[in-house]
Amino acid sequence: KGPDPDLVAIAERMATVKHKILVLSGKGGVGKSTFSAQLSFALAEMDHQVGLLDIDICGPSIPKMLGLEGQDIHQSNLGWSPIYVESNLGVMSIGFMLPNPDDAVIWRGPRKNGLIKQFLKDVDWGEIDYLVVDAPPGTSDEHISIVQYLQATEVDGAIIVTTPQQVSLIDVRKEINFCKKVGVPVLGVVENMSGLRQAFTDLKFVKPGPAGETDATEWAMNYIKEKAPELLSVVACSEVFDSSKGGAEKMCHEMGVPFLGKVPMDPQLCKAAEEGRSCFADQRCSASAPALKSIIDKL
Ligand code: ADP
Repeated sequence: KGPDPDLVAIAERMATVKHKILVLSGKGGVGKSTFSAQLSFALAEMDHQVGLLDIDICGPSIPKMLGLEGQDIHQSNLGWSPIYVESNLGVMSIGFMLPNPDDAVIWRGPRKNGLIKQFLKDVDWGEIDYLVVDAPPGTSDEHISIVQYLQATEVDGAIIVTTPQQVSLIDVRKEINFCKKVGVPVLGVVENMSGLRQAFTDLKFVKPGPAGETDATEWAMNYIKEKAPELLSVVACSEVFDSSKGGAEKMCHEMGVPFLGKVPMDPQLCKAAEEGRSCFADQRCSASAPALKSIIDKL
């Protein structure tokens, strides 16, 4: 029996991709796609050629997070063309193939596997430095297939995103063990939504009683401008989740994998994701962008 022709085709296609990074999480909603999107923006802003592949087939949020909603994929004789945010940042997602963004994708394993295989085989990334793969949460069929298919080539490793809660960390342990079992190096774990950091000027002040929030905010801001203007450049910070058990950092230590750092919950990052923008391009995500940057610099 000769080599699997699909694996040969994937290896050929991936030969023009220098680095492949998987972004994984144990649970949904922890910020995996947000991280994948911002990682891709950051690498592109560092002048790398970047591809972002969204295989979160049941909940593709990458088109929105990159500001590419409603775009269609085109085919050329070289394969499926990614949609470009910038000339050095191309994106491919199942989201581009759904006629209506509200459509649910209810596919069984074999069809999903088929699509992932096709994504890996047929997308014309060209010569790129990084391929960031936003995987679905958990250790499901999609993971097993992507890892199997990527075995035809060489993956740099996986970044695992979690929140500080124990319920998320339990699933991260499973994810780390999955990587160990299938031989994918764990590049490290990111603890997202780690405390709330918010620019003081973005805070809303609420006065008890019938007065509106805006009234109280305006009053408080005027008061602060007058009495303590230095406070306006301060970032307010609070713990949201109980991290008394040590969070992701302790778990990484126990499991012998790198801890990459903490990203706070930042309303401006959420806004950037909603608007499909990079959080690095302007000064607005002052609470989270430096944290994300220091994590990316470690890779
Ligand atoms: P996942 O891919 O793990 O399902 P998402 O990346 O879709 O999670 O994130 C879920 C929601 O949380 C999104 O609305 C996103 O903008 C928001 N979010 C993620 N990380 C942060 C953060 N650090 N601060 C504020 N909002 C965040």
